[in-house]
This record gives sequence, structure tokens and C-alpha cells, in this order.
Amino acid sequence: MITKKLLIACLLIVLLPFALSGQTKNPEDINNWKGKTIMYFSPHPDDETASIGTLAKLAANGNKIYVVLYTTGNKGSRDLTMTSERLAQIRKKEDKESLKAIGIPPENMIWLGYDDGMLEYVPEKELCEKVCKLIRKYRPDVVFSYDPGSDWMQWHKTDHRMAAFVTLDGARAAAYHLYFPYHRIYEGLQPYTVTDYFFYGSREPNYKVDITDFVQLKIEAVSKHTSQFGSGNFKYVGPEMDEESIERIRKRAYRGREDDGRVYEKFRRLRESMSF
Ligand SMILES: [Zn+2]
Repeated sequence: MITKKLLIACLLIVLLPFALSGQTKNPEDINNWKGKTIMYFSPHPDDETASIGTLAKLAANGNKIYVVLYTTGNKGSRDLTMTSERLAQIRKKEDKESLKAIGIPPENMIWLGYDDGMLEYVPEKELCEKVCKLIRKYRPDVVFSYDPGSDWMQWHKTDHRMAAFVTLDGARAAAYHLYFPYHRIYEGLQPYTVTDYFFYGSREPNYKVDITDFVQLKIEAVSKHTSQFGSGNFKYVGPEMDEESIERIRKRAYRGREDDGRVYEKFRRLRESMSF
């Protein structure tokens, strides 16, 4: 009898700290991430909306998120009175507001400043080096990117397809010191290998994130993009989005609802190093 009591006491001593600290949870599960560094590569200042419920959850759980914007989005308007310069300013403000709504501060946004629709015509080596340097500097646990495809190239519209490939190329280069060696020699940036990728806009999703508790926040964040989603794309009259356009965003946000009543965002997750 004493032995049995002793055994139970021993088990409690061993298991209780794990139960209390949550260490029995699977650390690979995105719902358990805390204190991670995440880099999200976005061709335009609204492509984060594809994953904004997931980003909201990660921010709420205490992860640090950096968003890299390849272009200014300065062509995406059908309003004939709009200019590229004005649109770039409007979209920067919209994206800042959108990310602020989910807890990502403006200082975590990295603007590369390329022209909308022209990313294909920027020298690839230049883009590859910029990504490589950012990866070496911020050393992310996870990289989010448009999906370049697994066995076959996935087609995307302009800027999205370039971003999909060059993000991966840059991340791969970051692992080897002989690519852009002056990063290390002159700036002290050491090689770094990314080992966890989340590809959004994927036709081969293998991982879903429950964003049910963040759908309202998603609607709020997406609704900041007045110049893009809704009547503001045809006639921009100010930063406030009209109710009809917000209603359409609301409906779209719930498209990810499944039979279990939960709402999901889907990704292709690749848990391996691309350094080969
Ligand atoms: Zn885009």
C-alpha cells in the first residue's frame, strides 16, 4: 500500500510541472507558438489579408511578426483620377492601419518600394540578395510566402509569381556564407537556415489554422483596404469603407467555415531546410 502511494506521489512530482507549464503540448502546432520570429513576404500591401486571421492569432500569442512588402501597390486602382504617387501613399497607410488592428506595429513593416506589377523586371539577383540579407538579419523561425508549388510550378499573377520564387531563393542563399559573402565580412551577418515555411495562396494545402476567434478582427483588418476591396477601387472618396463593401468582406471571411462550424485559413507547410 505504501509502495502504491509512493508511486502515485512520484508520478505527480514528475508529471505535474509538465502539465502546468504546457510542455506536453506539441511545439510544432502553430497554436502553441510563443516568442517566435515570423517573416511574412508580401508582394503587395494587402496580400497579408490571405493569412491575416493566422497573423492575428500569432500576434495575440506573443510572437514577433515582420512583414516585408515588395511593391508599393501603386497601380491597383480603377479610379481614373488616381495617380501612382497618391495610391502608393494611400496603400501604405491602409496596410499600416490593417496590421495595427491585429497588433503588428508599423516599425515591423519593411518596404522594399518596387513599382506594382514590375517585380518581374527587377534583376532577380538584386531581389535575391535583399531577401537573403533580411533573413540573415532577422533570423526567422518561420517564413510565410506565396506558394511557388511543390513538384510543379504554381501559376500566380504578376508580382505574386516573382515573390514566390525569389523569397525561397533568397532564403536558401542565406544559409550559405559564400552567397553575398560581404554580408558577413562587412556587416557581421551570419548564415542562417530557415526550416519552417508556410505557403499561402496554395493549391496543395496540407495545414489549416483555426481562426474562428479572430474572424471579427480579420474583417476589421481587411476593411482598412478601402482603395482595394469594394467601391473605393473604382472611385476613392476617403479612408472609410462603405457598409456594402464591408458586408462583402464579412461574407468572404466566413468562406473558410467547415462542417465543424470552425473557420480556417489553409497553407502548404514545408518543415525542412531548402539549403540543398
Ligand atoms: Zn497581391
